[in-house]
Amino acid sequence: MDGAKQRFAMTHIIVLAILFIYMFLGIITEPTMQGLYGLLAVTFIWLLDAVVYFMQIYNKRTALIVIRYIEIIFISLAFVFSIQTYTSVLLVVFLAIMIFEMLFLFDYTDIYTRTITTGVSIFPFICFLIIRQMSYSDYSESGAVEMICVIIMIIVFVAQISGILVSMVTSYERRVFEQRRLTENAKDMNETLKLHQEKIKKANEELGIQKIKLESANRKVNRVNAETLTQNEILKYISSTLDINDLVENITIAVKKSLSLDFCAIMIYPSAVHSKKKIYRISTTLSQSFEQGFYNELLQGKFDEFVEQKEVTICTMYQCRNVCLLSEGAVSSMLIAPILSNNNVFGVLYCGHSRQDFFDESTGLFENITAQVMMALNNANLYAKVQQLAIRDGLTGIYNRRYLNELFKKLSDEEKVNNDALSAALIDIDHFKSFNDSYGHLFGDYVLRKLSELIDTTVNEHGGIASRYGGEEFVLVFPGKNSLEVYNIVGSLQRAINSMPLDNEGVFVQVRVSIGITSYPEICKSPDEVLNRADLAMYYSKEHGRNKITIDNDEVHDFFRAKNSEYINKGKVKAV
Ligand code: GH3
Ligand code: MG
Ligand code: MG
Repeated sequence: MDGAKQRFAMTHIIVLAILFIYMFLGIITEPTMQGLYGLLAVTFIWLLDAVVYFMQIYNKRTALIVIRYIEIIFISLAFVFSIQTYTSVLLVVFLAIMIFEMLFLFDYTDIYTRTITTGVSIFPFICFLIIRQMSYSDYSESGAVEMICVIIMIIVFVAQISGILVSMVTSYERRVFEQRRLTENAKDMNETLKLHQEKIKKANEELGIQKIKLESANRKVNRVNAETLTQNEILKYISSTLDINDLVENITIAVKKSLSLDFCAIMIYPSAVHSKKKIYRISTTLSQSFEQGFYNELLQGKFDEFVEQKEVTICTMYQCRNVCLLSEGAVSSMLIAPILSNNNVFGVLYCGHSRQDFFDESTGLFENITAQVMMALNNANLYAKVQQLAIRDGLTGIYNRRYLNELFKKLSDEEKVNNDALSAALIDIDHFKSFNDSYGHLFGDYVLRKLSELIDTTVNEHGGIASRYGGEEFVLVFPGKNSLEVYNIVGSLQRAINSMPLDNEGVFVQVRVSIGITSYPEICKSPDEVLNRADLAMYYSKEHGRNKITIDNDEVHDFFRAKNSEYINKGKVKAV
């Protein structure tokens, strides 16, 4: 209960107390049985009102209503049974105050409270009017009181009706408000839904983008997979062979196959393989004329402008048309990848396809392939170098005895089958020991190197192979040449040796050599005899004054037969 209501309850108790005293005095002055009942009723009402006061304070709403109704009923009864007019008037005032108090204190928006209060409030007045009608014949006496009763009834009735109307309006307004609120809520919900829809739409779009990204990532993964496979394939070939020709051939096949190309060609420049010849291989499903035409275009330098860019280049259709072969339509897409090392071009990888725009911008794979090819070239070169080291003499750089033996075995086998000529010359420096003794071993080495150079150059010029057989001995092999041809070559070689300028600290030194020549099938019965017989012929030269060339013949044979067995047993030569 708020402060205003509490103050009202207090004043209304005072008013009631005054009324009560006034009525009490009136009844005392005119004591009847009915007056006594009225007094008891008023006393009881007074007590109840005191209780009501506390109820209001403690806000016991239901108890308050019940007690108020009991009060009203008692007042009504007191009212009906009071005989004195002024008592009746006082009771009416008393009742009016209570009803007013109820209207003031209770929540009249509650329709049930209102209905019950209205019924109960009007009830005593109806009773009063009925009883008055029955007990009095003279209306004039009670007219004023009845009038007041009717007015109060109308007031209460109008108040109740207006209260009901107000409550109906209020409840209608509340419903409208509720409806509005619901509509607002629905609107809000709608907005939220729209917002959510927007979000879902956005999320969907995002999902779409993610899907596209995923697809592209998938494509990339597939591509990387394919590229890895290609590179693995190439690596497999690289590790399987160290022969550059085989390697280049295998790589062209592998690249063409794994990338589904129409052709793949590799050109390796001579500088890359330390040779005079370039290496070229092509793997293609296109016609022979294409193959030939493409090679011609390569030789004509049609692609040089792309190669010189030193980076992977994809030729556009326009650029392809510049190349006469490509304009025929065999190839519509072409990729040119130079094989680089230290920014120098050592070769070129050419890839082509009949489909337009076959190659896209991602050229990383081709850079990797060319890098691998370069690596393979380096490996093969290194291997070749090691191979060379194994078969070359360390001091002079010409072939060593190991190589000569292998070569001789190979040639012997071939000559046996083909019955072709195989000749050899053995050269031994005369008195080389005294060279070392006189000028020192370093000068001796120098002489060996100079002589080897001269021998190698001369022999190579005539299609022969020169090797260092031992300390100061050299074997020259001439496949397909007879003894006379070899004699002519060796003769000029001897002359060159004799006039070879060898300067040892201002002293001109001369070298002389003894040479023996033999030939299969002209002289020897078997190629296996050639080396020994050349050796014997050389010794024959030694035995006959040195600085000589001896062509193996029966005389040489007989000479050594006759020679004492001591010489033979030295193991330098075998008995023949
Ligand atoms: P001959 O005319 O009978 O062949 O006499 P020679 O002194 O040449 O023959 P000999 O077999 O007695 O000696 C060969 C010499 O060659 C012995 C050795 O000092 C020398 N020699 C062998 N290999 C080398 C080498 O690599 N460097 C040097 N400086 N000398 C070598
Ligand atoms: Mg010797
Ligand atoms: Mg010698």
